[in-house]
Amino acid sequence: MTTLDDLPLRDELRGAMPYGAPQLDVPVRLNVNENPYPPSEAVVAEVAVAAAEAARGLNRYPDRDALALRADLASYLGHGLTAAEVWAANGSNEIMQQLLSAFGGPGRTAVSFAPTYSMYPEYARNTHTTWIVGRRREDFTLDPAHALGLIAEREPSVVLLASPNNPTGTALPLDVIEAICTATPGIVVVDEAYAEFRRAGTPSALSLLPRYPRLIVTRTMSKAFAFAGGRLGYLAAAPAVVDAARIVRLPYHLSALTQAVARVALTHADELLARVDELRVRRDETVSWLRQIGLRAADSDTNFVLFGTFDDRHAVWQGLLDRGVLIRETGPDGWLRVSIGSSDDMAAFRAALKGVLS
Ligand code: PMP
Repeated sequence: MTTLDDLPLRDELRGAMPYGAPQLDVPVRLNVNENPYPPSEAVVAEVAVAAAEAARGLNRYPDRDALALRADLASYLGHGLTAAEVWAANGSNEIMQQLLSAFGGPGRTAVSFAPTYSMYPEYARNTHTTWIVGRRREDFTLDPAHALGLIAEREPSVVLLASPNNPTGTALPLDVIEAICTATPGIVVVDEAYAEFRRAGTPSALSLLPRYPRLIVTRTMSKAFAFAGGRLGYLAAAPAVVDAARIVRLPYHLSALTQAVARVALTHADELLARVDELRVRRDETVSWLRQIGLRAADSDTNFVLFGTFDDRHAVWQGLLDRGVLIRETGPDGWLRVSIGSSDDMAAFRAALKGVLS
């Protein structure tokens, strides 16, 4: 039988594993920062109607520019944005890969600051972009002098900043983003996948768009919108950035079903986002509880908490799994990440963690 080793795979893909956290069938799944709440039956019914309507036209290709959906996303974002300044794809993962296809590539460099989202180096690899990674401080904030120094030295075509950051939960102040925009010769992408979960007073980089034409803000419906299974990510930027994404996107990349269903979800934004407030409160309670029991927990503007530290984090992860609670073994050595679930999920997490640590 032919194995992967027999195939003429690109050298840099040899030995690589497909990305992904374990998808295990356990009672409490707190490992991929999903929203724990499924859509209401009313939303399910509207999705079914919209899907049936779209199904009647499935012999035709979808609107390849997804104009109606982009208009809906623009009005959801506010900030005076229009459809011309918004672009959508199958998850913000695809958006990011399109951006690196358009602005990265052979002979070009992308910079980010670790610990950060583990897919970034893979987008760089897939697009033949040189990957340079700086570091965050001990408390996971970004040291502007270090960041600006690295940018001056490497002159990147793309800087990728997750804010709030995964897996640490840390948001960046706008003045740091502005300084990076001013210093970067290329594109600055601020990945706001978790923006809706940020604490009061934490600003969004959307407000900077009018002043920085090479700034791109990416968002997703996978987290706050409880639409991870629908696969819809998007960006906001100058219309010229959208033109660039349209050059590299695959033809008809966003199916008619995805477009129709995402539009239904957007009409229920209020209902879906109402649960976000509840998750934010539970997130803050989880941070406090972890600190009360003597652990470290990073401040979080997301729907997850990075906590630790453990001499043997794998043993803690395994101990939780043995008790039916799946979290994520990620982040710097000794730390673990737990997504914020329902009240019952978090009670199960607390009980399991107490059991593991006793
Ligand atoms: N950016 C960050 C920082 C993330 O954590 C994730 C999902 N884990 C994504 C982007 C991608 O999300 P999606 O493709 O589902 O939109």
